Amino acid sequence: MSLHDLYAEVKAVTAITKLCIVGQWSESLEENDKATLKVAMDDSELSSKDLFLLLRRAGGEFGLTAVREHRRGDCVCL
Ligand SMILES: [Zn+2]
Repeated sequence: MSLHDLYAEVKAVTAITKLCIVGQWSESLEENDKATLKVAMDDSELSSKDLFLLLRRAGGEFGLTAVREHRRGDCVCL
């Protein structure tokens, strides 16, 4: 493997580990689900608890606190 490829690989891994558990999970979503997640995150009529339950049903394996902190921007995601 070339230095160029190795560097790109390391950078990709570093970028994903800088995200919280919710951010990391969101990176695994299809593009349209990523867009829906953003809409749901910004939906002030959807409580964090309902958002948490929704994301759990969609396969997210994290707690309500992680969802709340990610939504508030209180997590390690940039
Ligand atoms: Zn986050």
